[in-house]
Amino acid sequence: MQGGGTGQFAAIPLNLKGSHDHADYIVTGAWSSKAAEEAEKYIKVKKVFQPSKPYVTVPDQDKWVHDEKAAYLYYCANETVQGIEFTPTAPESHNVPLVADVSSNFMARPFDFKDHGVVFGGAQKNLGAAGLTIVIVRKDLIGKQQAITPAVFSYKEMIANNSLYNTPPTGGIYTTNLVLKWIKSKGGLQAIYELNLQKSGLIYGIIDNSNGFYHCAVDKSYRSIMNVCFRIGGAAGNEDLEAEFLKGAAERNMISLKGHRSVGGIRASLYNAITLEETQVLATWMNEFQKAHSA
Ligand code: PMP
Repeated sequence: MQGGGTGQFAAIPLNLKGSHDHADYIVTGAWSSKAAEEAEKYIKVKKVFQPSKPYVTVPDQDKWVHDEKAAYLYYCANETVQGIEFTPTAPESHNVPLVADVSSNFMARPFDFKDHGVVFGGAQKNLGAAGLTIVIVRKDLIGKQQAITPAVFSYKEMIANNSLYNTPPTGGIYTTNLVLKWIKSKGGLQAIYELNLQKSGLIYGIIDNSNGFYHCAVDKSYRSIMNVCFRIGGAAGNEDLEAEFLKGAAERNMISLKGHRSVGGIRASLYNAITLEETQVLATWMNEFQKAHSA
């Protein structure tokens, strides 16, 4: 489909509401928060726990307030801004279809999509170029769309027309074909996953062994293997040090390491296209930088 991850934030409640009154949302960061906000236009949204900022973890599942009457239970598999990933498994479904936003970790790791009703993501992180949106829908959920659902967002229209209801993003599809072949050539998804574990493990290792010079606020059980977010100079971060770190990184040809403005600090996005060797360049710079700033 087209419309990106953001398009699906609307398409999901439009397509899945059926005769349900509400949907349940797991809000663990910026993207699930945006998804819930958009969904409110089309369905009653209930959050399974009250989200609290800063987002650093996934609250204990035993304490979630959920409902088997919900149309679906929504979660974001990897919160790109905060670096929080559901690992290694999806949340409990509580007997309703799970809906997963895999925009930033699809094809970065194997998934078990048991109990899932919809899995979606923009292709631009690990699967190609912006403009193509991957949407996998369980067949029994097709045909429950609201009357106002735009045809381009209708799963029923899309499946009836073999994903060709309107002109598809052909350039993006072509690129994705190349990326899939590239993944195969690298040994497939398991090999990519192992590499991603190695890459993120290298950076988290430096953070954990830095005596607090580098600080990752995310609960260790939910640390993302794609987006490693950290502060420099202690938990609160020292913005001068961070600016100096980014400047030195740029001099070493590493750009876009600045954290999202809502969280600050540094974010190393280790998508599939980033090699282990490139990650090692970052690791070397982190070690050098710490050394230069240690008394
Ligand atoms: N969900 C997640 C997890 C994302 O990372 C993003 C984009 N960074 C989106 C949704 C929004 O996707 P798009 O920009 O394709 O609308």
